[in-house]
Amino acid sequence: MDFSTICVHGKKKHIDATGAVIEPIYQSATFAHPGVGESTGYDYSRLQNPTRFIIEEKLAAMEEGIDCIAFSTGMAAISCLMELFCPGDHFIVSDDLYGGTSRLFDFISKKNGLRFDCVNTSFIEEIAKCICSNTKAIFIETPTNPMMQVTDIRAVSELAKKHNCLLIVDNTFLTPYFQKPLLLGADIVVHSGTKFLCGHNDTLCGFLVIRDAEISEKIRFLSKTIGACLAPFDCFLVNRGIKTLPLRMKTQEKNALELAKWLETKEKVKKVYYVGLPNHPDYEISCQQASGFGSMISFEVDSERTARQILSRVRLILFAESLGGVETLITYPTMQTHADVPLEQRLKKGINDRLLRLSVGVEDLEDLQADLQQALEGESIDERVSI
Ligand SMILES: *Cc1c(COP(=O)(O)O)cnc(C)c1O
Repeated sequence: MDFSTICVHGKKKHIDATGAVIEPIYQSATFAHPGVGESTGYDYSRLQNPTRFIIEEKLAAMEEGIDCIAFSTGMAAISCLMELFCPGDHFIVSDDLYGGTSRLFDFISKKNGLRFDCVNTSFIEEIAKCICSNTKAIFIETPTNPMMQVTDIRAVSELAKKHNCLLIVDNTFLTPYFQKPLLLGADIVVHSGTKFLCGHNDTLCGFLVIRDAEISEKIRFLSKTIGACLAPFDCFLVNRGIKTLPLRMKTQEKNALELAKWLETKEKVKKVYYVGLPNHPDYEISCQQASGFGSMISFEVDSERTARQILSRVRLILFAESLGGVETLITYPTMQTHADVPLEQRLKKGINDRLLRLSVGVEDLEDLQADLQQALEGESIDERVSI
């Protein structure tokens, strides 16, 4: 079955006796047993819930994994995943991770005895240098947030296999519509489903998609024990969002490519970071492992003043955290998503007070350009954006 069909119907259609076209929301905490020692397969919603199973089965099929487990947020998914490991275990992680993930590693996982080396995973030799006998996992995001660096998933997975460690890929930015890390050799895929999968900025959710039965069983045990599971109504919302994932991803990418090219022509814009621009250093590798570039753009303007001016002047585009929804959002990584990353580390990566990040939505391209133009130049506001 084609990917778009799976997004709409799942691997198999869930039609009940009523013929309802939309899967029901099983808003039930518990389930009655037919008899002693018997179960319908559903006992208690922390462990199993039919609405949750629908979305888990669908995302497992989309990522081509054997199992998927849904969590209340992306961070809940990653926190649960970290419980697979023991004190003393060593991780190699990207030095340009989502700020919340870095915070989890720095303030919680380290306290629990895990050890981390942060490297630029775009350079495979940097990863290789850090591998030691206790290295249990390599954790990457590709492209990274907000610097849009790409890591060669195949090459890292070969290295991971050679050293018997797991490769974990946070696939939030591209989603399986554009990139399927499990097919490139990754062991576990992480999602903040809050972003593109859900796509409408109306719910939080997280997922782990797994390739191996033994790991899946361990994570299911951790998930039911910790209990940060996704509620039935939120499962319904993300399931509905996924039905239009291919349409949204296509439109958002098209808008992003045009906006990135347009931003490059602006005098006050000094640098544009978008993987889909052929001058991006990782353009080639991106073409080899992904079928698209996504819709996240970072750009550096000429001064902090300009950056702040844009943030206070945008009207159609919203100055808000998060990404991946149909609404175009602009963020200020240095003060928002990455505020907890130490300043020196931030500056080293290029996350300075002139850097802005755009999550491009599905609005009309010219409306977006008009809004950015007036925000950049302070020109008279086009009627189209004065909403
Ligand atoms: C947002 C995000 C997360 C965290 O997900 P939440 O749903 O906000 O908890 C993790 N990784 C990436 C890449 C993200 O963008």
